[in-house]
Amino acid sequence: MRLFECGSLVPGCPWHTRADEDAEIVRRAVEHMRETHGETVIRENMIENIKARIVDETEAA
Ligand SMILES: [Zn+2]
Repeated sequence: MRLFECGSLVPGCPWHTRADEDAEIVRRAVEHMRETHGETVIRENMIENIKARIVDETEAA
């Protein structure tokens, strides 16, 4: 399982999401950026920033 925590990109934001596919996480994260952080224009480097912060979540956690 893969995990993205918005707080790693936007300090203080508690939103996070989990998915099997990075593409699915990016899709949800972009939606969250639009709705919660008012990012109406999603730039390429935003996608890169999200991808760079997706981490593996150990199943034992
Ligand atoms: Zn957020």
